[in-house]
Amino acid sequence: MIAEIISVGTEILLGNILNTNARYLSVKLAEAGIEVHFQTVVGDNPERIMQAVKTAYTRGTMVIMTGGLGPTKDDITKEMLAAYFGKKLVYDETALSMMEKSLKRVQKESLLQSLKKQALVPENSRILYNHHGTAPGIIMENNNRICILLPGPPKEMEPMFEEYVADYLSSLSDRVLVSWNIKMLDFEHAPVLKVGEAPVADALGDLLDSENPTVATYAKDDGCLIRVTASAADRSEALEMIAPVVREIRSILGDEYIRYDREDTAE
Ligand code: ATP
Repeated sequence: MIAEIISVGTEILLGNILNTNARYLSVKLAEAGIEVHFQTVVGDNPERIMQAVKTAYTRGTMVIMTGGLGPTKDDITKEMLAAYFGKKLVYDETALSMMEKSLKRVQKESLLQSLKKQALVPENSRILYNHHGTAPGIIMENNNRICILLPGPPKEMEPMFEEYVADYLSSLSDRVLVSWNIKMLDFEHAPVLKVGEAPVADALGDLLDSENPTVATYAKDDGCLIRVTASAADRSEALEMIAPVVREIRSILGDEYIRYDREDTAE
């Protein structure tokens, strides 16, 4: 399955905030064995959001979006996606009563009217209740297309992902992706001609064309990183596939030029 991450927010385009949601989701989707070919950022503009969604579905079957689920006029993600899927918006009673309860606690009844928009959800969709804020997330499925809408604030989006989306994604994919990092010595401790990306890539030769596991090199500030990634039915099978490739890379490059090799934890 191929997914596209669409981050909605003019603040991201202006450089006011860093798009950490896309990074978080890319890591999680890879762990779930779902390929991400594109990350898109779009401002809070209805036509451009619709254009981004249509384009995303020409190159994948899943769209996962963050931001624009709040109560203000410029929060339009849900409205655009409901329109795209031809679904009506209806009030979700549970979301409404969760909102009511949290507002009563802080004596802000009058705010409810303006916040109510967040309890509107596309009919026949799955609602992801928000225990760290007010806007619920949404999963919609239609004609083999899946759309997952999540709130923008990471402190709401990440727990919602863990609570609902992680299991949902693993039920869709029968594969996991596991990556292993091999880090070369830094330039201060070894000749660049041994640990720079170009000589490392030259030495690895055809290994860089292998398909499963894949082997890729990355130029980092302090020396080359090699990443070996396997797609398998489960983690232990992936690790078994990775181990001989790591041994081969070590023997080609020389143990003395390698600082460490270990599982990739999105450092
Ligand atoms: P709210 O109910 O807070 O309005 P929302 O779902 O409408 O939530 P946005 O209004 O788009 O989300 O963003 C709210 C805040 O969440 C932003 O000001 C920013 O701090 C954070 N945020 C939004 N998108 C991202 C992102 N892609 N990466 C990191 N932080 C983000």
